[in-house]
This record gives sequence, C-alpha cells and structure tokens, in this order.
Amino acid sequence: MVQEPAGGSLYLVGTPIGHLGDLSERARRVLATADVIACEDTRHSGQLLSALGAQGKRLSFHQHNTRGRIPQLLDLLEQGQSVAVISDAGLPGISDPGEDLVAAARSAGREVICVPGPCAATTALVSSGLPSGRFCFEGFLPPKGKQRKERLAAIASEPRTTVIYEAPHRLLQLLNDLLTLCGGDRPLQVARELTKRHEQQVGPTVASALAHFSVHKPQGEFTLVLGGAPEVVAEDHGDAYWRDALQQLIEGGLSANAAAKQLAQGSGRSKRELYALLHNTSDTDGDEDAD
Ligand code: SAM
Repeated sequence: MVQEPAGGSLYLVGTPIGHLGDLSERARRVLATADVIACEDTRHSGQLLSALGAQGKRLSFHQHNTRGRIPQLLDLLEQGQSVAVISDAGLPGISDPGEDLVAAARSAGREVICVPGPCAATTALVSSGLPSGRFCFEGFLPPKGKQRKERLAAIASEPRTTVIYEAPHRLLQLLNDLLTLCGGDRPLQVARELTKRHEQQVGPTVASALAHFSVHKPQGEFTLVLGGAPEVVAEDHGDAYWRDALQQLIEGGLSANAAAKQLAQGSGRSKRELYALLHNTSDTDGDEDAD
C-alpha cells in the first residue's frame, strides 16, 4: 500500500460528531502529516489538529469561499502536495462542503480517497430500529415556501426510510409538518446528541416525538429517521373519501396538484382522476396543472 498521505491526492477525512474517541487511527495519521488541511472552520478544528501535532498548512474551506478555493486546492494537488479536507464534524460532503471539490478533483484526474468516519445520518439510521436496507437522505429541508412543501410531500409518500437533519429551533415546526402530512402513527425516531454525553433517542412515532419536544425544549443536535409510507392497498374508497383526503392535505399547505400527486401513489386512482374530484368534474375534464 502507498504511504499515506500520498502527494497529489485529496483525502476526505471523517472526524467525530461528538465523541473524540471516534477519530480513527488512520484519520489521525493522515491529518498529522498532510501537507495542507482544508478546514470548514480553521478555528473550530484548530484544537483537534494541534492535539494531533498536525503541521500542514491550514486553509479555510467553507460554503462561502468554495469557488475561489477549489482552483487553489487543485493547484496544490498539481504541485504534488497532499491535501486533507475536514468539516466541523462528521463526513465532508454530507450537508457540509466537499462535494464540489471532489467533483473538480476527479475531473482534473486527481486521486480522491475517503478516510471514513462518523456520520450523523448513518449513525441515526442504524440505531433507529427502522428498516435500513433501503433508505433516503434528505439533509436539511428548505426552511419555508413552495420548495419545502414539495420536499415534505415527497417525503410523506416515500416508501423507504428517510433521514433528515434539523436545527433545534426548527424541530417543532418539522414535527408538526410531519404530523399533518404523515399522521401521528408514522414511525419516527429522533436521535439527539449522538455519541455525546446526553445522547438520547425519542420515538417511536411522530405523535410521541412531538408530545415529548412540546414539553422538553429541543436543545443540541438532531437527526430524524422517519419510517416509510405504508403500502396503500389499491381499494377504491369512493369519491367522498378521496375528496376529503385531498381537502385535508390542502388545508395542511399542499397545492391541489401536489395533494393529488401524493394521494395517487398506490391509491389505484390516477392523479388526474383525483384532481378532477376537487372540481366535481369527470376525470377527463380536469386541468391538472392549475393550482
Ligand atoms: N457532515 C456531517 C455528518 O457527516 O453527519 C453533518 C453536518 S450538518 C452541517 C450538521 C447536522 O448533522 C446537525 O444539524 C444535525 O442535524 C446532524 N448532526 C450532527 N451531529 C449530530 C449528533 N451528534 N447527533 C445528532 N445529529 C447530529
């Protein structure tokens, strides 16, 4: 095996999301000896790097200077320097800077190597007890607006387990949105402060998590693991049932079009048919693009 870190190679290095003991031996070695360390926040990572005796040149690499830094980091790789990238915590490239740099490095024919480490998404997923064979990662949802509603609607009808990151001050809003769109019985496990002293799991449903955090103010870091939408048995409940279900979703904030699309999945009825019900017209008369 080539001596690590190799000159001209880009290393994505996973760092702890809480417990410092989770920094791997290999990560320590690469960070201690890389020529350059691109840090999401040089001050935040300073303590860790100093403790490792890292001598490499430290450069900031965050969402506001990515564009300018990428050519500079590629130049350093071109000159034969080894470059390590770390974020404040966890894996670079997962809701953290890294993705664009990796794409640029690959396009430039540079070697990209991941030194894997902790990641809140997978840590929460595997400890949730929810199906992990197939899952989706949504990262942070848009804080408001049409894009948020559409993402939430897609998540609500997604049959696979979904992992979501959320800031503490937005947690209650997200739980309320999930209650409206998924119902209180939908399985949910909220992982709080993973790998830290006050690590906690709150579940097992949307309703119980909402009840808990309505009483206990959300503090710390949160990752949500939402159970997939149950298979809808393709039985026809009749027009009144579907009209009612559509109205509920619309009252919850979805557009008529998005509500029809969501309900159509696995319902045995087409989106067009459902949309037409809202207007009391036959399914061939509906204009499904209007909201
Ligand atoms: N790159 C990181 C990773 O690999 O997990 C994620 C970075 S993202 C900016 C930060 C978010 O990850 C937090 O807001 C929270 O949703 C989640 N997170 C990070 N550490 C966590 C922890 N110890 N417990 C629960 N969630 C955590």
